[in-house]
Amino acid sequence: MELSYQSTRGGETGVTASQAILKGLADDGGLFMPTFIPKLDKTMEELAGMTYQETAYEVMKLFLTDYTEEELKNCIARAYDSKFDTGEIAPLAKADGAYFLELYHGSTIAFKDMALSILPHLMITAAKKNQVKNKIVVLTATSGDTGKAAMAGFADVEGTAIIVFYPKDGVSRIQELQMVTQKGDNTHVVAIHGNFDDAQTGVKKIFGDKAFAAALAEKGCQLSSANSINIGRLVPQVVYYVYAYAKLLEAGEIEAGEQINVTVPTGNFGNILAAYLAKEMGVPVKTLICASNENKVLYDFFRTGTYDRNRDFILTTSPSMDILISSNLERLIYLSAGSDAKANAALMKELSEKGSYTVTEEMRGFMKDFLGGFASEEENRATIKKIFEDTGYLIDTHTGVAASVYNHYKEETKDPAKTVIASTASPYKFSGSVLEAIDGVRPEEDEFAIVDRLAELSGVAIPQAVEEIRTAPVRHTAECGIDQMQATVAGILSV
Ligand SMILES: *Cc1c(COP(=O)(O)O)cnc(C)c1O
Repeated sequence: MELSYQSTRGGETGVTASQAILKGLADDGGLFMPTFIPKLDKTMEELAGMTYQETAYEVMKLFLTDYTEEELKNCIARAYDSKFDTGEIAPLAKADGAYFLELYHGSTIAFKDMALSILPHLMITAAKKNQVKNKIVVLTATSGDTGKAAMAGFADVEGTAIIVFYPKDGVSRIQELQMVTQKGDNTHVVAIHGNFDDAQTGVKKIFGDKAFAAALAEKGCQLSSANSINIGRLVPQVVYYVYAYAKLLEAGEIEAGEQINVTVPTGNFGNILAAYLAKEMGVPVKTLICASNENKVLYDFFRTGTYDRNRDFILTTSPSMDILISSNLERLIYLSAGSDAKANAALMKELSEKGSYTVTEEMRGFMKDFLGGFASEEENRATIKKIFEDTGYLIDTHTGVAASVYNHYKEETKDPAKTVIASTASPYKFSGSVLEAIDGVRPEEDEFAIVDRLAELSGVAIPQAVEEIRTAPVRHTAECGIDQMQATVAGILSV
């Protein structure tokens, strides 16, 4: 059976991978899902000897079925190259009784680089394959990391433009500086007067506006998405879970077939969904531990079966996880309903109208391998400090949430299974909060003085991505209200 894509809300079926990547979001507001989850056709022993790039091909070929071998290998080679500061691309560090899968060695020092360094190549290839002549306008809402990683990927890529919306007071200073100094004539950054959910909802609304799409088409433009609602983001993220397992096997840390746990600091539910897909492809994963910060909607959901976004939005020191509407959860809901698009669409309608929905017991049973946990700001700080003091290993505030939740889990369950923790950002991306955690006081200095002090205290080298923005000029200063997002896009594109 040939794999194709369909909307989680039933409006579109039989879509090829390249079409799904080009569109980003289905016309009915649903997310594209493959008709089935393919099984790995190589054994773990075979995968154990492979490089990251080779593993990427073995995983991605199974999902992106209308790309030729040459096209896919070409995209992979251009994505996973010297932009990463380690040849391993995603190295594992053993510390504090867990394996930290470092996903932050790309050009913008967060895990978003893992998928966003390849997405532009997948998209341009898709445009060629589908004879698209329009300019592809990538519209993206960001909680801080996606925006920069997407712009780095699309900057000056011919035939594309990218517009990023970020919450004005909802990102770290380094994240903001990274975005507003972005080069490239086709890049646009706008700060919105709202939070990440407002940005994401606004972007989804623009996608759903047919009249606007028609006006854009007249100008020779069409929209796509670089958010993890795009299947072209999700598929490359499956790769590193397969790779991590294979590398643990190769290093003799686990035996063939041994089950591991995975702990993922979660916001939009993209990264942990990729881990689930890896499990379904055949990677021996036991429990998927979904770690939230104080915005613990997902923790409550896995505990009670009710998803309820009606609560205060809390700004935390792990801003990339400050999210109340986790878009990719829709994909799991859809699968748990037996790929029943109608049932899923009804729940999503409840979410948009009432802000909550409850799944059936059967659906909860389907999700039994997921376990929710959350960490308070206090616990997060204490974990970062303790790991640093005990082992010398420094983690960022998002990874700190995951490590806190995992430590809790281990204490409570005594589960001896080896565990991979997704380490999603360099500590330097959140220098102020990380320094506060290990030093005990909120630093008052200028951002780069904090960076330098963190380097002195930790001995961890300052990444190139941070050095670059020390002196880079600010290029983007646009701001807008949440009801002006569409007008802002229209203005940028002269529609
Ligand atoms: C985006 C992000 C997350 C959350 O990932 P999701 O796929 O949205 O769940 C966690 N940590 C960091 C550093 C991020 O940038």
